[in-house]
Amino acid sequence: GVSPPPSLHGCNTLQPCWRLEVAVQTPAHSALGDLLTYASTVPMAPGALVRVPLGRREVLGVVWACAERSADDSALELKTVAGVLDALPPLDSGWRDLVAFAARYYQRSLGEVALAALPPQLRDLTSQQLARRLKRRATPVPAPDEAATDPAQAVALSGEQSAALARFEAETGPFLLFGSTGSGKTEVYLRAVAALLARDDKAQALVMVPEINLTPQLEARVRDRFEARFGVGAVVSLHSGMTHPQRLASWLAAHSGQARIVLGTRMAVFASMPLLKLIVVDEEHDPSYKQQEGARYSARDLAVWRGQREGAKVILGSATPSLESWHHSRPAEGDDTGGRYVRLAMPGRIGDGALPTVRGVDMNLQPPKTVLSAALLDAIGQRIARGEQSMVFLNRRGYAPVLACGDCGWKSECPHCSAYRVFHKIDRTLRCHHCGYTERVPRACPACGNPDIAPVGRGTERLEEHLAELFAPVRRPDGSAVRIARIDADSTRKQGALARKLAEVHSGEVDVLVGTQMIAKGHDFRRVTLVAAVNPDGALFSCDFRAPERLFSLLMQSAGRAGRDANYLAAQGSTAEMWIQTHHGRHPLFQALRQHDYPAFAKQQLDERRAAGMPPFAFQALVRADARLQEVAQDFLNAANAAADVLPHAPHVARYPAVPLSIQRVADVERAQMLVESGSRVALQRFLADWQPLLHGLRREPVGKGVIRWLIDVDPQAI
Ligand code: ADP
Ligand code: ZN
Ligand code: ZN
Repeated sequence: GVSPPPSLHGCNTLQPCWRLEVAVQTPAHSALGDLLTYASTVPMAPGALVRVPLGRREVLGVVWACAERSADDSALELKTVAGVLDALPPLDSGWRDLVAFAARYYQRSLGEVALAALPPQLRDLTSQQLARRLKRRATPVPAPDEAATDPAQAVALSGEQSAALARFEAETGPFLLFGSTGSGKTEVYLRAVAALLARDDKAQALVMVPEINLTPQLEARVRDRFEARFGVGAVVSLHSGMTHPQRLASWLAAHSGQARIVLGTRMAVFASMPLLKLIVVDEEHDPSYKQQEGARYSARDLAVWRGQREGAKVILGSATPSLESWHHSRPAEGDDTGGRYVRLAMPGRIGDGALPTVRGVDMNLQPPKTVLSAALLDAIGQRIARGEQSMVFLNRRGYAPVLACGDCGWKSECPHCSAYRVFHKIDRTLRCHHCGYTERVPRACPACGNPDIAPVGRGTERLEEHLAELFAPVRRPDGSAVRIARIDADSTRKQGALARKLAEVHSGEVDVLVGTQMIAKGHDFRRVTLVAAVNPDGALFSCDFRAPERLFSLLMQSAGRAGRDANYLAAQGSTAEMWIQTHHGRHPLFQALRQHDYPAFAKQQLDERRAAGMPPFAFQALVRADARLQEVAQDFLNAANAAADVLPHAPHVARYPAVPLSIQRVADVERAQMLVESGSRVALQRFLADWQPLLHGLRREPVGKGVIRWLIDVDPQAI
């Protein structure tokens, strides 16, 4: 409800006398600026949602400020607000501060970030429709019985879990929960949430996970536990796999305070939660917390900022924290070296289970063209004979990454990208994984007519086929055939396919699971006792300085899928193993992996980064430009570079020449980027803010002609 306007300065309701600054979705780099000004007959609270005319359309906007119009101001011709969604309480200052910060920090317009943070369907509904939807959402009904037992409270916490929770309750954080795979981090998050909700009957908690679809198990677990106690509707999800009406319903529940827990992916960091008191970021190292389109934000970093601002406690959790978070955390209680995060360590596994023994296979000693070493096959065979499960991990999907002609050297290049098209045997296609361009496999070499074109290299599809051949003669203990399954983006494209396949693994209907990183993350498999990485070497020689960090965490996470149930291992008389087939067994990364020694690995990496002046010891941003011709993109960036010489913060910022991206051309668009770097985050921020207008200006000059788009990526995750 809004009050009628007071009649001041001769204003009356027929003459709008309030001036509103409204955030609307303007094109990413529009010249319109951040906020548009409108007139209103009634005052409106900041955070109110309004509909305003923009060009010929009427668009959704968020009121950012409202002031009475002054005498000279009333001379201005202002468009009038078309409507207000007064069924909704205004977005609170916590939310608005977050959006404003994100826009400033990631160099985007306020309106773009604000509107992207709202559920899309909000744009299409009237206030009456919204009012009905709000009413339709039943208030969560607390369980029939006050003492309704939380089934999980029956589980006794491990000593490490109790200690972590005790420190969590005693300090303000932010916290870095550094817990081994299988140490029971999820239980710690859920207990922290439960304690909060029990203590404060309004408080809300935000639990973020990298990819909700990958772990349908978790969603069920959270719902089961909290709906029993806090009522159906107490838990809502927010992620991109939901329909627009579902997203709106979740958003409304969070905004109105009815939902006590929001479980979501990176987008959930922007959920409106007026009573937010706790934020959990599970697997905080995961690259999917970084949004890679539009406003390129890091949901993890925003979570820390938001928690600080709103007085909500923040827990970041991982077995392999990002080097940034690790660097920001204090090694031990009472130790004030290191950063401001409180590190909570849980090195042990639940039930005192051991972490898997890491076995390296020296591929230099294998017969040429070996895919799976005899020793590994033998180990998998033993698991099959005991009724245990194995996982074979290869981070490349498709049948073969390239199809090639041995006669003339033709390769399955994509005509639109600087990349090869991948051979998918299942439907006999060549598919580009960058632009999607797909063709049937030619019968013969398109260049010379040789009918003998052959796959080169190996993806998960071929690996699965290979394993099926090798294990065809083998029998399971009950005499039946060995069951091999594959989980990757191709095998799980259909709705529900992933959940079904995971369920098969959980229920023991699979003996050997082949897959990409999708199988490495988060899953709580109980009968997997062996995990193998068959070809992890590629990432050792990437030019991206974060590649070793990524590889180490992926391998640690993969290893973490083996032997999670100590009782099962004991009953089987089995041990958990992680196999690594490599040509570079002496590489320090594998040495650290063998010891499960994340701190040693992190120290070595941080020492290198410190010496080289790289993050977290420096702050980076990329400016990217796309054009039909590579030189057009590079010329634009180099002109922007030169234009920046005059900026006041230029002396504190290193600027590097424009270079092509590692995949230079995608869908016939040439891509170039330049890196800027500074030892001071503030200097870099000010530099970027000053630089933006120059970039906008250059775009309109001859050097900007032919540039399709440009963008700034602050704290880029891939260089
Ligand atoms: P993490 O996320 O650290 O890898 P999880 O939270 O998935 O580990 O926990 C591993 C397994 O141990 C899960 O099956 C979980 O239900 C179980 N678990 C967690 N805490 C306890 C406990 N205190 N007692 C018994 N089982 C537990
Ligand atoms: Zn040929
Ligand atoms: Zn392509």
